[in-house]
Formats: sequence, structure tokens, C-alpha cells
Amino acid sequence: MSKLGCRCGHVIVDQTDSLPYKASLLRDEAENGFWDEVHRELKPLVEVAESGDKTAEAQAFGECAHWCSAADELEGRISSHYIHRASTVYECQNCGRLWVQKDASESFVSYVPESEAYGAILSVAAGESEHGN
Ligand SMILES: [Zn+2]
Repeated sequence: MSKLGCRCGHVIVDQTDSLPYKASLLRDEAENGFWDEVHRELKPLVEVAESGDKTAEAQAFGECAHWCSAADELEGRISSHYIHRASTVYECQNCGRLWVQKDASESFVSYVPESEAYGAILSVAAGESEHGN
């Protein structure tokens, strides 16, 4: 997803990281499965790393061990499990409409806020000021 046309006419652009109007949604029904995968990924790697056996380490991390760090490989695997289960949510910066990705599809469903205005509800800064009140 790189662009989503909102009903108000605004075009939501997704071409960079750390967008204040974008979030990932991990459904409760998918969360346990995700953490199970993380546990499955971490357990053998931690065991191999603690053993100090370089041959076993190379096998555990695969071919990637030759050209990238174990941390990158692990991050990639966990990220893959997360992306597989998470959906994307966008908030239109013009009208505040939330666009929620339907599970495992490229289609989005919209929800209009009571205020009918952009509230930066997906922004980290908005969440922090909320706690300060
Ligand atoms: Zn809009």
C-alpha cells in the first residue's frame, strides 16, 4: 500500500516509515499465535548462542550468517511473523476517518469519528499528551 484515496478527497500517502497517521493492528485472536512464533524463534537461537558452538550457530541462522548479523536475521524473522498477522490502519489527516485493513486482504473499511475531524489518534505524540492531562 502506498496510496489510499479517502472519501473526502484526501489522498493518504504511505511511502516512508514512522508515519503519525498509520498504525499496525494486531487482532486479539492473532496475538497469541504471534507470541508463540516469537518464542519458537528465540528459544533455539538463544540456546545455540549460549552454547558457543560456532558450527551450530551457522546452521541455526542459515546462510545469512555469512553476510549479516544474527540480530538482523532474527529481526527479519520476527518482523515477518508480525507482518503476516497484523493489519494496517490509516487516519485521514483531512477528515479524521479511520481506514482499517480487512484481515488478509488489500481492502480497507472506513470509520468516521464523532468529532468529524482529524485527531492524530494514531500519533505517538497525541498519545503522550493524553497521558499528561
Ligand atoms: Zn478523509
